[in-house]
Order: sequence, then C-alpha cells, then structure tokens
Amino acid sequence: MKIAVISDIHSNLVALEAVMDSIRNEGVEQVICLGDVVGYGARPNECVEVIRSNEIPCILGNHDEAAIGLGDINYFNQWAREAILWTSINLNEKSKEFLRGLKFTHEIDDIFFVHASPYEPKSWHYIFSEYEARLSFSSFKQRVCFVGHTHIPAVFSEPDGRRRIINVGSVGQPRDHDPRACWELYETDKESFKLVRVEYDVEQSSNQVISGGLPGFLADRLKSGI
Ligand code: ZN
Repeated sequence: MKIAVISDIHSNLVALEAVMDSIRNEGVEQVICLGDVVGYGARPNECVEVIRSNEIPCILGNHDEAAIGLGDINYFNQWAREAILWTSINLNEKSKEFLRGLKFTHEIDDIFFVHASPYEPKSWHYIFSEYEARLSFSSFKQRVCFVGHTHIPAVFSEPDGRRRIINVGSVGQPRDHDPRACWELYETDKESFKLVRVEYDVEQSSNQVISGGLPGFLADRLKSGI
C-alpha cells in the first residue's frame, strides 16, 4: 500500500493544495496528517476543511492544541504566540470542533504516527539529533515511526538498521532552507520511503499572511525556507 504522510501545514492553503495534487499523481491509497494543521498562516479554516472533507486521519499538534485554548502558550516564541492568538480568533466553531477531536497518536499495522516524539507525545519533545532519536526508539514497538514538529526532514535508524524514525518535514513552513513543501511517500510492502518536494506559489501564500494581519516575518520566512 502507498501511504502519504504530511505534517505541519500551518494554515498554508496554497502549499497544501499543491501537496494534495502531488499526492494524487502518485496513486496514494491512504493519507495521514501528523498535525499542526493551523498556526502561522492565514487560511486555518480552509486547511482544516481539506483534511476533514478528505477524511484524512489526523493527529494533534502543539499549535492545534494551543489554538483551541488547550496547552500552555508561554513556551512559544513571539511570532508563534501572535499567530496562535490570531488563529484562535479566526477559527470557526466547526474547525475548533474538528481540532478538539484529534488524538495524540495513530497506528496502522507496523507504523506509528505522532506529531513530535513517541516519548511523551503530549510534551512535544523535539527529535533533532541521533541521540534524541536513540532515546525515542524504546517508546514505540512498530518498525517505523513518522514524526513532524521540527519542520526539517530527516531519517534516523536504529544501529541494526531495522527500525526507523522518519521526519516528514513540513507542508506549510519548511525550515531546511528549501521553501518547497514536503510530503513523504511510504510503500508498506517494500518498506521504502521517499521525501517529495513540491513547488508552490510562495508569493501568494506570503501575501495572504500580510493581508491577514499576521507578523511580516511569517511571510518572509516562507520565501527562504526558515
Ligand atoms: Zn509545526
């Protein structure tokens, strides 16, 4: 089975639509979203609607949690905090209800899905390094764990190479100095995986951020992929 894993859309509808087109072209049978559907960008309700109407299984991200008034917003940086407050004001009731229904983890056969880390999923730990990845392998039993949260695509393997933690990068705000949107294609029978990069109209999305009244830095960072 071909699975597409997407994460960290962050209210970037232009990027999400480009990614959904790319996924359709690959003949994917199942799409999974690792959360942070909202926060940072200017189209939160539209992005939630894409996930909801396509019946894409979705798990909760830290920005989703904060935008519906759960969780502590004090640990977010200034821009994230401003965007969360903007998002909580602009989310409609239908979107809030959708986000309230999201769980912290998801499983399909031998695959585990979580937003940040399989170790204490509700604490939003980051996995940036091999060391942090190594500490996380004992927190799930499946062959593969997909994560997002850092917005930086990565693959971490156990020393014997049998199990992996795969970071799928970000649809709506990549931070690896490549502004193209990310999604991960996983083929279950071959256990093969491929990061797909998708060009989208970054200018349009940046303009939406500005005209929505969000901080200018959030528009600029999309252009440089930071
Ligand atoms: Zn995120």
